[in-house]
Amino acid sequence: MRNLTLTLLLLFLATGFATAQTKIPTPAEVLTFTPGDDRKLASWDQVVDYFQRLDTASDRVNFETLGTTTMGKPFVMATISSPANLARLDEFKTIQDQLSDPRKLGPPATRDRKAAELIRRGKTIVLITCGIHSTEVGSYLSSMLIAHRLASSTEPEIQKILDNTIILLVPSLNPDGVDIVKNWYDKTLGTPFEGTDPPELYHKYTGHDNNRDWYAFTQVETQITVDKIHNVWHPQIVHDIHQQGSFGSRLFLPPYMQPVEPNVPRALVQGYTELGNWMAAEMRAKGFQGITTNSTYDAWSPARAYSHYHGGVRMLSETASAKIATPITLKFEELRSREGYDPQKESPQFGPLWRGGEWHLSDITKYMTTAAFLLLDHAATNRDQWLRRFYSVGKEAVRPRRPSELFGFLIEPSEHSQSLISILKRGGVVLTSSEAAFKLGSRQLPDETLLVRMDQPYGAFAKALLEVQRYPNLRDEAGHPIAPYDVTAHTLPLLMGVTVHPVKAPFRYSPAETVAERGMDLSTQPPNLPALYHSSVPSQDEGWTRWILDSKKISYGVLGDKELRGGVTFYKPSPGVTIRYLTIVFPDQPARTLLDGYRAGAMPPELTGGLGTLGVAKLRELVETGGTLIFLNRASNFAIEQFKLPLRNIVGGLPRTDFYVPGSILRIKLDTSHPLAKGMPEETIAWAEDSPVFEVTNDPNASVPAANVRVIASYPADKDPLLSGWLLGGDLIKGKAALVEVTIGRGRVILFGFRPQYRAQSLATYPLFFNALSSK
Ligand SMILES: [Zn+2]
Repeated sequence: MRNLTLTLLLLFLATGFATAQTKIPTPAEVLTFTPGDDRKLASWDQVVDYFQRLDTASDRVNFETLGTTTMGKPFVMATISSPANLARLDEFKTIQDQLSDPRKLGPPATRDRKAAELIRRGKTIVLITCGIHSTEVGSYLSSMLIAHRLASSTEPEIQKILDNTIILLVPSLNPDGVDIVKNWYDKTLGTPFEGTDPPELYHKYTGHDNNRDWYAFTQVETQITVDKIHNVWHPQIVHDIHQQGSFGSRLFLPPYMQPVEPNVPRALVQGYTELGNWMAAEMRAKGFQGITTNSTYDAWSPARAYSHYHGGVRMLSETASAKIATPITLKFEELRSREGYDPQKESPQFGPLWRGGEWHLSDITKYMTTAAFLLLDHAATNRDQWLRRFYSVGKEAVRPRRPSELFGFLIEPSEHSQSLISILKRGGVVLTSSEAAFKLGSRQLPDETLLVRMDQPYGAFAKALLEVQRYPNLRDEAGHPIAPYDVTAHTLPLLMGVTVHPVKAPFRYSPAETVAERGMDLSTQPPNLPALYHSSVPSQDEGWTRWILDSKKISYGVLGDKELRGGVTFYKPSPGVTIRYLTIVFPDQPARTLLDGYRAGAMPPELTGGLGTLGVAKLRELVETGGTLIFLNRASNFAIEQFKLPLRNIVGGLPRTDFYVPGSILRIKLDTSHPLAKGMPEETIAWAEDSPVFEVTNDPNASVPAANVRVIASYPADKDPLLSGWLLGGDLIKGKAALVEVTIGRGRVILFGFRPQYRAQSLATYPLFFNALSSK
């Protein structure tokens, strides 16, 4: 008895002692400024330091490093909930796992009852992701404000959130970019260039396209997020916090505008519609202005929305930007319309009016943190409903397919089928093989053919990537095409050159067996050393090209405007050794940007001027003496204009009503007798996105005769060029050229009227690109 009393006394003292010691640090105590203060950015080290201190001080916060970024920084996450919930994380993971795949709950007749019990015990899992786009600095700064309030507050509404939700907070999906932007911002602070975007990609390879990687999973940051967060936790709500331009609404919230990709479950569309409309209404009630819903952002591409195919809603928010951390002043008349609303007029999609004025980083963090806490409040209050909705999505996904419904897809083995299979598996899709080979009609498919069944939790993810897209022909009141927010096609079998067959139920198959992973095929190295043009104005296509070359361990040089204007096309790896770059690749960029770069005054002088006429002359010299210049997509227009080639871009300058291809998969025919198309099939694909289409001309002012042009690929004259996505005016391009080679002196230029290495997905046309790099 005495011992027990003593123990209790000691426990009491220890607890009292601990409480007295536990001072939750504010961000200002660690950073020396409050997130949102004008002209103040935190470094990634400071962010990590802040969360580590929170972890030490608070029993509501677990902080961990999940992996290492492209440039070697820690990729981190904080798990925030009540101490009681944090002690039971494994149990909650199991509940999530079972609700996401109701087959794990036993025979169908008993599942609903078991699920009801799990739903009673479970918590709403909310993933908050910040900072994927590093110039949108408000969100990684807000992550510290959000974490601090959750860790320190005694308010009942915060207690409700901690009791009913588990919050997975990722302060930045791109930690490398935090420092790239801060370094540039600090360097230019107080100069005429304060508040400009850095003159380099804020993700080493992908720049802004890091948020287009949520089905191809090429980058390590995407892989960490999918493998260690999404696939472990299956969050019901993913709050992805972004910023948009300065001149539109102050804040966008879902619902998304049309179109919604048809494989996104209806229950999730209802979920984001209900939550977004509620958040917008609450914010308006609190006096926030300039809020839009159901505008600008569609829900078409799985490239931005992993959760939509994995049981959770993606709650995008887009707050208006300042100039990085520098305040701006806007006049009401300067506000500009975007798709679906006019910020100068109240409408069902927009209101109440924001009258203009100063716009500070603190306005941004205030909109962001308010929206985040409303979202968490809804997640906590409606815990039961969020979990029931989550279970209903899983239940619909695994139900047996009825006769004549799509049963699944058969994937034939081929050079790139393993790349496709690896993607599906990372997305949680199970593939099965048959002991007896699959039969399709009377046709026996190869032994290693695999089946992707639709009746599995992530069957809809597989379906979205394996089927052809028919993008709706959306028009505004004036009959103009409504631009998709991103691109319109994501059919991986076409992009990768893999044969798949949809099969209807009932389909006979042998018992399931998961296939083992095999390594990716790497193409052969080109024998000469190519160089990649590095524009002063960041190009995502250049970043993707570097990623492809790096990942295949292909050596290459890099040449910028300064080198090319100076005629430098060689490098000296060691004394006495000189290697000439005979091949230079110009990634996709507008012709004007290649020629002029940043305009004078917009950036420090060493970054302005582009290639200029001097660069053009030096490049011409290189070609005439035996070099090869490769121009990708829009960069081809630069070559036509500057080298006066006997070619015309027949779709250049056409209005969208006449011709429009905003990121689609087209069909091309190849001249396989040309070395560039060696070993390729006679028909393949082309990723077309604002792409030129070529016609050979007999222009007397051209610098070489038409006979110097050889057409290597063209759009078929007798078939619809569209394979997947959206194409207007397809008849115009029938029979026209998509890939040409022009001989100039002893060298040549190669013009791709498409992106042969599109976002590291179009494996089907990689050979054209690599052959261009290596052929002489
Ligand atoms: Zn963004």
